[in-house]
Amino acid sequence: MEKTTLLYEGKAKKLFKTDDPAIVWVEYLNQATALNGAKKDQISGKGELNNQITAQIFNFLKSKGINNHFIELLSEKEQLIQTVEIIPLEVVVRNVAAGSFSKRLAIPEGTPLNRPIVEFYYKNDALEDPMIIEDHIEFLQLATTDEIAQLRKMALEVDEALTALFDSMDITLIDFKLEFGRQKDGSILLADEVSPDTCRLWDKKTKEHLDKDIYRRDLGDIIPIYQEVLNRLEKRGE
Ligand code: 5GP
Repeated sequence: MEKTTLLYEGKAKKLFKTDDPAIVWVEYLNQATALNGAKKDQISGKGELNNQITAQIFNFLKSKGINNHFIELLSEKEQLIQTVEIIPLEVVVRNVAAGSFSKRLAIPEGTPLNRPIVEFYYKNDALEDPMIIEDHIEFLQLATTDEIAQLRKMALEVDEALTALFDSMDITLIDFKLEFGRQKDGSILLADEVSPDTCRLWDKKTKEHLDKDIYRRDLGDIIPIYQEVLNRLEKRGE
């Protein structure tokens, strides 16, 4: 497999075409961003950690029957994924109040929710990724009614699987963001990444943040924290 031309450069990843149109080559970058790109830093080791954590999680989700784009890990910083057309929605699932939910509704961070809550955001940098409702999604023709139902169902399945996975690692899954893509035949795959950049993870005993809030809120160095998440994931397989 050869990597060919650059397809897309995002904030955290570069995607390259390969000699097989069905396969994309991903390189995870060391760049960290927050506040819609207003806060930006190079953090050595972050790309390697998120690449390996995402690979572990996507393999786990595959073993639970959740279809995703991950094919194989190529190196510490690189992986192969299936080509999909990304649906421009961020699907957030929340189990415990935190972040924008706490701020918007004045619910203290750490308040458990009686059932998981699913939210949709429009992936649009110029609009700063606004939260949108299902009628907006249909109006903008971002996804069909059936697809929206499927996204919600898949997001809740991911939540159930990941809540159990992290629980076994002494971590509470507070909330997370997913992205999905369409394959040529119209079927939907979980895509993008699942890592401490895209999830809120709290240590069950100490309540310590094991995620990007450390960077967003200037609470310290993310590298030992992300390494701890990877160590706990790897230990699980022993
Ligand atoms: P909130 O809406 O509270 O800021 O975020 C909810 C969850 O989704 C958090 O776990 C957060 O990490 C994730 N999330 C939401 N939007 C983004 C985004 O644009 N980038 C990343 N990396 N994570 C996001």
